[in-house]
Parts: sequence; C-alpha cells; structure tokens
Amino acid sequence: MFIFFRKWPLTIKLLLIGIVPILLLIYFSFVIIHEKAQNVKLIGNSIETIEQSYNIKELILNLGRERRFSYQYLLKKDSLVQLIDQRLRTDSSIKVLTLSHDPALNGFTKYTFLDELDTTRSYVDSDDTNQVNNVIQYYTNAVFRLNTLNSFPIPDNVLLQPIYQDFAAQRILSEMLMHLGVLRANIYTSLYSKGDLQSTLIATLPSYKIFNSYEKEFQLKASSNSRRIYDSVKNSSSYKPMIQYIDRLFQDKQFDSSFEAEKWWYLSANGIAALKDQQASIWKSVDFRMKKLYNNEKSIQKETLFFLLMSVFLVICFVIYIINHINLLLRELKLAARKISKGGTGIHLKYMPYGVIGNLAKSILQIEKNNLKLAKTANEIGTGNFYVEVSPRSSEDLLGKSIQQMQRDLREFNSQKDKIQLQTLELVHRRDEFFSMTSHELKTPITSLKAYTQLLLMDVSEKDINLRTEMLEKMDHQINKLVILINDLLDTSRLQYDQIHYYKLPLKLNKLVSEIISDIQLSNKGHQIIFQKNINVTVNADHYRLGQVVSNLLLNAAKYAPDNKEIIVRLDKKDDKVICSVKDFGCGIKQSEHEKIFERFYRVSGGNLHTYPGLGLGLFISKQIIEKHNGRLWLESEPGKGSTFYFELPVMDI
Ligand code: ADP
Repeated sequence: MFIFFRKWPLTIKLLLIGIVPILLLIYFSFVIIHEKAQNVKLIGNSIETIEQSYNIKELILNLGRERRFSYQYLLKKDSLVQLIDQRLRTDSSIKVLTLSHDPALNGFTKYTFLDELDTTRSYVDSDDTNQVNNVIQYYTNAVFRLNTLNSFPIPDNVLLQPIYQDFAAQRILSEMLMHLGVLRANIYTSLYSKGDLQSTLIATLPSYKIFNSYEKEFQLKASSNSRRIYDSVKNSSSYKPMIQYIDRLFQDKQFDSSFEAEKWWYLSANGIAALKDQQASIWKSVDFRMKKLYNNEKSIQKETLFFLLMSVFLVICFVIYIINHINLLLRELKLAARKISKGGTGIHLKYMPYGVIGNLAKSILQIEKNNLKLAKTANEIGTGNFYVEVSPRSSEDLLGKSIQQMQRDLREFNSQKDKIQLQTLELVHRRDEFFSMTSHELKTPITSLKAYTQLLLMDVSEKDINLRTEMLEKMDHQINKLVILINDLLDTSRLQYDQIHYYKLPLKLNKLVSEIISDIQLSNKGHQIIFQKNINVTVNADHYRLGQVVSNLLLNAAKYAPDNKEIIVRLDKKDDKVICSVKDFGCGIKQSEHEKIFERFYRVSGGNLHTYPGLGLGLFISKQIIEKHNGRLWLESEPGKGSTFYFELPVMDI
C-alpha cells in the first residue's frame, strides 16, 4: 500500500491535499446552510403559527359577534341585517382556517363543533326561543374550543428569544380579550334579558377570575414596553370604565340597574377595541420582527450558499494554481537536471522558493558549479598543467577521483615520456656513435688492406719472401677483424628477430676454453693468458656460439687492459653449475655502467671510447647466447683495477 502510494504522481497527491480542505469546507458550509435552512423553516413555521393564531382570534371575535346577534334576533327579532352580515364574516374566517395546511388544524371543525354551526343557525332561523340557552352555549363552547387551538407554542429557539416575550404577551392579551368577550356577552345578555342576574354572575365568575389571572401573567411575562403600553391602555378613558364596571359588578355581586344593555355594549366595545388595538400592535410588531428575522435568515442562507460556492471555487482555483506552480518549478528543475545529465552548463534557476524545492535547486546549481570546476580542472590538465589541484566533490565522487587518477597517470606518463625522450636522445647519440665507430672500424682494416695490397703490387719480385709473408699475415689479420665485425652485425640483426639457431651438443667446456686461449694467444703475443683452474666439465651447448662468448671475453680482456699483460681464466664448479671467469687488470668499469654494457651498441663513454675500437655488440651478443643456454653472464669490476667477467652454465651429467 505504502509503495503503491509512493508511486502515485505528485500532481495526484497535491490534488488529494487540496481535496481534503475542499471537502471539509463543503461539509462545514453544508452544516451552516442546513442550520440556516432549519432556522428559516422554524421561523417560517412560527410565522405561520402566528398568522394562524391571528386567524383563530378573528374567528373567535366573529363567533362572539354572531352569538350576540343571534341572541338578539331570537329574543327580539332584532339585528337581522347585522346577523346575516356577521354570518358571512364568520364563514369567511372559517374558510381561511380550512384552507390552512397546518396539520394541527386537521378536522378542527369537528373538534370546535363548527360542523354543527348550520344546525345552530337553523335553530335561530326557526325562531325557536326555547333554544336560546342552547344557542348561546353552543357559541361559548365553540369559542372555548377554538381558543385551545390557539395555544400552539412557538419554539423556544435562541433566534426567536428576543421576540418570544412579545409573542407570549400578545397571546395572553388574546386570551384576556376572549374572556373579556365572554364577560361582555354574558353581562350584555343579562342586561338585555333582565333575567336571573345572580346565576349569570355565578356562570361568568370563572371567566372573570381567568381574565384576572391572565392579566397577572401578562404583568409577569410581557416585556417592559408592552407593560407600559398596557398600563396606558388600562388608564385610558375607553378601557378604564369598562373594567371598573366589571370589577364593581363582581365586588357588589349585583348589576347596576341604571345601566342598559346597549349602553354596556358600546361602553365595553370601546374597552375591548382599545385592548384589541394594543394586542394588534404587539402582534404586528411580532409579525414584523418575525418576518424580518425570516428574511434575514433567508438572505444569510443565500449569502452562505454564495460564499460557499465562492470559497469552493476560490479554493479549487488556488489548489490548481499551487499544483500548476509546483509543477512548473519541478519542470524547471527537471530541465536543469536533464541539461546537466547531457553535460550542459549555464543553468539559470531564478526565484526558487525556500524549503525543499529551493534546496533541490541549490543542489542542482551546486552540481553544475562542481561540474564546471571539474571540467576546468580537466581542461587545465589537458593543456599540460598536470599539477593543478583536483578536489573530488566527496569521498563518493567517482568522476573527481577518475580525474585525479587521470592526472596521476598523465604525470607518470609525462615523466615516462621525458625518460623515453632522454633514452631516445641517447639512442640517437649512440646510433651516431655507432655509425662513426662502424665507419672507423671498417675503414681501419680496409686502409691497411689497401696499403698492403699496393705494397705488394710494387715490384713484388724485389721483396723478400719473409716480408711478403708478414704482409699477407697482416692482411689476413685485418680480414679476420672485418669478418668478426660483420658477423657481430649479422648476429645482432638475427638476435633482434630471434633467428639464431643453436646446435646444442655435449661439449667439453675445458677443452673449448683451452683451444680458444691457444688461438688468441697465438695472435696476441702481447698478453699472457693463464688458464689458472682447469676442470673437466661437460655442458650441453652450441660449440660455435659458446666459443664466440669465450673469445669475446678474452679479446675484451686484452683490449681493455693494454698495459697489464696478465689475463687469468678459471673454471669452477658449484653444485650442478660450472662458472667460467675471465679476469683482467685493465681500466675497469664503474658500477653505474655494469648493467648498461650488456645493451646493444652501448660503449662506456669517456676518454677510452675512442682509444679502444669496437661497436658495443660483443657483450650484448654474449649475454643472449648464455641466456639461451639457461645460464647467466655478469661481472665484477672496479675502475682502474680491472674486471672479471663470469658466465655460469648447467653442468651436463654423463
Ligand atoms: P666493444 O668492446 O666492441 O666496445 P663490447 O660489447 O664487447 O663492445 O663491450 C662493451 C663495452 O664494455 C666496451 O665498449 C667497454 O667499454 C666495456 N668493456 C668490455 N669488456 C671490458 C673489460 N674487460 N674491461 C673494461 N671495459 C670493458
């Protein structure tokens, strides 16, 4: 799951980050809108309740009036026009309530006996005076039942709190008005009929008590403003006489005979109208404030919805902008990294943000800087500055280390090159030397040969035989020298291409050495070659080539020790090896030349170089021959004291 999440593109992850606040915003906005909708619904319901309360109150008033006109008509056939007119008003009030969708009013005509209204009206129309009490009772019952419908509470909601007090106050006033209507109607009926006054008083007393208790409740619950208005109504000339009359009536428990029914009716009409006005004004204020609240909540709901949509829109825009912005930054970094990966330089990463991306940009720039530095260093090295400082970027920097290694190799190569250059110079020098020596070596015997030839051509007959023989011997000697010289050159060339063939056979080394000493001694009378230790030893060797080595060593000993006559030759056996040594007491060789004298064409430089003839090939050829016989050739020498050359060969068991 974790790996799966890691592989998601960054854009999707950023979108996820953006979606979470958007969802939260939508959720909280939904909660607010829902709450606002609830408030709107609640206030709307409350407004409906208030309007319904108003309609019920209107119906109660109309029924009260219809009751009075019905009563008048039944008893005195009076007020027919008013009765008919009133019935129409009552019917329209009933119709308004019937049209209401409030479930609380479902079937209310049955509960309030209004479905029997037509029956009651038919009693009135039939002039049946016996039905007077029933008719009055019917209307009173209907009014009471209707009043119970009017007591729906409005919800005790925080929003409605400020108007709740006034709502309760107008409702109490409504109750007071209803009971005042009952009192008024009963008093009117008694005055009108001049009937049993005491029984009317007893029947009306509960309404009087209820009216008073509602008044007390009003004083307790109404707002100070409503109370103040009520007090002014109470002391007004239209309301006060009515209340005073009623109070006196229930205090004295008898009717004022001087008061006529009509007089009471009009007096009480003014009082009730005053109270009704107050109740209506409070109701209007409640209705107005309620509607204001309703509109307010509705507009807040709309605004909230608008702000929600705006916020979601803005958040989405912001999220898209941020994602786009981050993508652009990363794209810039990607292009820079790609450029670096292709070896490019000149990267511009401007206005990078702080934090991770900024650090990444800095790292990329640092990589470029380091690359440039390394490239410059490599360039310096390339132009031959092998001692420029190379600093790898870290212990893991392969490129830096490689450049460092390359620098070391180039330094090494350069010093090797210098060495080779020196060696080449030396070789060129040696070559020049070789040519001059070869020319000299070839020229000397040829000049002698030419001289002897000319001498011999000059009147040969006159020369004695001894002189001629001597001349021919000298010519032979020079020819031998030429042969050796040419053989050495040929051998050197063959050795270079490994073309010398060795015909190895068992060979008595002591015999070979003795023969060569004799040969050389014959032609070199100036030196005394002493075969100091002669042992009988056999080796597996090429007779001619091994003889070449011994001759070369003996001839060198003679050549480089012209003043010291003795040359000592020894054969020594050591384990399964035989060591042959040739010792002279000549000029000797300094230690630093001991290796070099075995190189091709090498001759020790200095005064002796031109003193002694030679091409620097003898030791080179001898060393190759000995090594081809599984042996080794070396020397011990001290300048001025002489040299001893040794060669060692495996002894052959016979
Ligand atoms: P060449 O004698 O023709 O110069 P070699 O290869 O025989 O060439 O010898 C190489 C060099 O070694 C000589 O030029 C000489 O300087 C030195 N050398 C050889 N043998 C002796 C020796 N016995 N005493 C002193 N120097 C010697």
